[in-house]
Amino acid sequence: MSDVLGLDYPKEECGVLGVSGIGSDAARTTFFGLYALQHRGQEAAGIAVSDGRAIRVHKAQGLVSQAFNDEKLEPLVGGMAIGHTRYSTTGANSDRNVQPYVVETMHGPLAIAHNGNLVNADQLRSKLLERGAGLQSSSDSEVLALMLAATEGETWEDRLAAVMPQWQGAFSLVILCAGKVIATRDPWGFRPLSIGRLASGGHVVASETGALQTVGCDIIREIEPGEIVVMQGQVARSHQGMKPNSTQARCTFEHVYFSRPDAVWDGKSIHQVRQRLGAELAKQHPVDADIVLPVPDSSMPAAVGYAAESGITYTEGFVKNRYIGRTFIEPTDELRRQGVALKFNTLPDNLFGKRVVMVDDSIVRGTTAGPLVRLLRDAGAAEVHVRITCPPIAHPCFFGVDMGTHEELIAHQLGVPEICDHIGADSLGYLSLQKMMAAIGRDDGYCNACFTGSYPVPVQLSLMSSKQRFDGVLG
Ligand code: AMP
Repeated sequence: MSDVLGLDYPKEECGVLGVSGIGSDAARTTFFGLYALQHRGQEAAGIAVSDGRAIRVHKAQGLVSQAFNDEKLEPLVGGMAIGHTRYSTTGANSDRNVQPYVVETMHGPLAIAHNGNLVNADQLRSKLLERGAGLQSSSDSEVLALMLAATEGETWEDRLAAVMPQWQGAFSLVILCAGKVIATRDPWGFRPLSIGRLASGGHVVASETGALQTVGCDIIREIEPGEIVVMQGQVARSHQGMKPNSTQARCTFEHVYFSRPDAVWDGKSIHQVRQRLGAELAKQHPVDADIVLPVPDSSMPAAVGYAAESGITYTEGFVKNRYIGRTFIEPTDELRRQGVALKFNTLPDNLFGKRVVMVDDSIVRGTTAGPLVRLLRDAGAAEVHVRITCPPIAHPCFFGVDMGTHEELIAHQLGVPEICDHIGADSLGYLSLQKMMAAIGRDDGYCNACFTGSYPVPVQLSLMSSKQRFDGVLG
């Protein structure tokens, strides 16, 4: 996918990780941590490491296991590292946008890895170009790195605090300079970032707490919106770089779909939240049925919750090939449709003659649900009732989850009865916004723009239309 400059248009739903105070092999810990964040980005992976003087980096297209092996890890010597898994849905990939982004500055080397999306990146990029900066990629991270390098301040954390107010939108960042790792979150708190302590005394920050567990950390807590954490050797210090925004905007979709079920987000276990989403769904959209089954894997806890609340037997109807990757990665609708069939087989013995409730977390473009309903019917299901654990997604996300454009979102084009017809289900029920928030256990503090169209940070019309142009032309 290219923009008008011929550059790739980046999708920034990603995983980030930073490690400090861990002998000379921070890269290996980062590697295993990135494995645990693989679901947040399968397009590319990278690790930058510092030995206190120089920064070395290796990054490549593909899964973490494809980007790295012993040979690639061996030269990455040092006790501080940052890593990144990059997500993309459609279009061409480019090495230029693979992170961490590394730059030489007058204050020494700097590497940056970013999860999120700035809504004013285009203006910031133009300002840099006007000042004569040469930009190599279309990635927000390069803009962040160059702005940081050009800001006055004694230390990197001073410069970060000085420049942060100019960044509008979502950023969970890990930054590596020669002598420390710095982590921060935007003042709205859009995307997650947590910190943990290693038994050996070092610290790790990661997009999800599951990655902290994987590398053997005790989880300390979430990094707060606007907080700056500086990890130097085995010491981690923190201060508020910016006041948290009065309206917080955590991403609801992390609960619904994106995070792993072992993550804790906003103090809530994602697994428990998903069970409650399923239970609320059973209350809001009950149906006479024989079995409840999930679309694996993300909907399993929700289907368990639906079954427990409704008293309908939980079983499995799909077997998923876990090695085929997300269907979202395929670039065209046609390939996406093939992807669904490539990805799932059915268990006809469980399905034949049964009235089925199929629970899924979301319908986005509407290309997955229809083929799944067909697979169930082909396997002999007598009825298929589809239940979705969030409201209809009718608006694009500008803060880091690639939902597609207005045109691509089926709920922007069609009402619920039409979507039900489109996917060929006997009935379709979406969880309401109110019930979804009840399951999460919060009244406010969340970004629900993809459901409501009400964006917590003003999104300029130009961005809306440019996103539509990029995705419309190239998606
Ligand atoms: P769609 O065919 O576009 O309606 O895709 C919906 C399916 O993709 C659901 O089964 C979700 O579990 C999954 N999904 C939802 N959002 C995303 C996303 N941003 N990236 C990848 N997969 C997603």
